[in-house]
Amino acid sequence: MRRAIYLAKETGCKLHLCHLSSPEAIEEVTKARNDGQDVTCESCGHYFALDDDQFEEIGTKAKCSPPTRNKDNQNRMWAKLLNGEIDGITSDHSPCTPDLKEGGIFDAWGGNLHCRTVLILCLTKGFKSVA
Ligand SMILES: [Zn+2]
Repeated sequence: MRRAIYLAKETGCKLHLCHLSSPEAIEEVTKARNDGQDVTCESCGHYFALDDDQFEEIGTKAKCSPPTRNKDNQNRMWAKLLNGEIDGITSDHSPCTPDLKEGGIFDAWGGNLHCRTVLILCLTKGFKSVA
């Protein structure tokens, strides 16, 4: 993150960072913006809906990259989203057949079918957070 922001600054490039999953990463974007850089970022719906407790329950069906994190991280991501530090929420839709999600953590497909859930997430949990 810091390297990409540094290189964008040195070259005068716009920068868009994808799939951010930690508040600390968002804070780097905010710092860069406050310094006048043209930096935007997005995160994915699953970082606002799933946490590592659920990973214990559903296993490799929740495997994604970056990985889901703990509930405290999720709550801080919601705060970053609701205060406008995150420019958008995406699905990071990466479909596969169910058999590809089986096996060990290193064998299972790393993507998820979030195209069908991200809008619902925003309209339910997201709406409740701002209402
Ligand atoms: Zn992706």
